[in-house]
Amino acid sequence: MKTKLIILGSGSSLGVPRIDGHWGRCKKNNKKNIRTRCSSIIIKGSNSILIDTSPDIRKQLLDNKIKNISSVVLTHEHADQTNGLFELRPFFWKNKKKIDLYGNKKTISTLKNAHNYLFYGSKDYPSILKSSFVKPNFSLGKHKEKVFFKTVKVTHGKIHSTAYIFEKVAYISDCNDLSIVKMKQFKKLNTLIIDCLKYDKHPSHYNLDEVLHIHEILKPKKTILTNLFYDVDYDVLLKKLPSNVKPAYDGMKIYL
Ligand SMILES: [Zn+2]
Repeated sequence: MKTKLIILGSGSSLGVPRIDGHWGRCKKNNKKNIRTRCSSIIIKGSNSILIDTSPDIRKQLLDNKIKNISSVVLTHEHADQTNGLFELRPFFWKNKKKIDLYGNKKTISTLKNAHNYLFYGSKDYPSILKSSFVKPNFSLGKHKEKVFFKTVKVTHGKIHSTAYIFEKVAYISDCNDLSIVKMKQFKKLNTLIIDCLKYDKHPSHYNLDEVLHIHEILKPKKTILTNLFYDVDYDVLLKKLPSNVKPAYDGMKIYL
């Protein structure tokens, strides 16, 4: 069975344009410069696995006509990856089943504190989520629709985020960990989807030079750059890249 990944959001925490209409160096006339906050979805038959619940998740699912969610995997606890969590309530009502949510220990405990009612329920509101910690290897879905994951703990500034590897794809949307070049899990990939916040160095994200270095060493068949800041214009970035490296854009489809 064929698997598809859709980049739902390719922007950094502020999005493009920013809430006050600031576009930075991005040209307004290119639709690929309109970026919502980072998240993606893996679709294999009726198995739809959401990666992160960004503050834009409602619009992202509507724009891509995604009618259901089977489970959610989270990269880390930051607001731009998790603040859309409460938007998932209709999938609990529709499926009459708690939504399976996976993340590392820090992510799950941070979310339980911030959104207590979604995990434990309250007088008038039932809990809608069933949380589990990610393991180094696990699978989601049934029979032919099953997706097998490997996870790797990576550095994202002062915290850790989870890189997900599935069907020869690695998804590392928030990271500045250069040691991944030595890890066997990232070798022989078809597609590397990777954080490339900006051109300048940053304390918690890769910049372009670092990503190109990683691409050269790991040699995936193709590399997709995501989590793009508003100073990174799509066409300007594209011209700086080798032919098998491309900037992500919202709604980009990758067939695995
Ligand atoms: Zn983050």
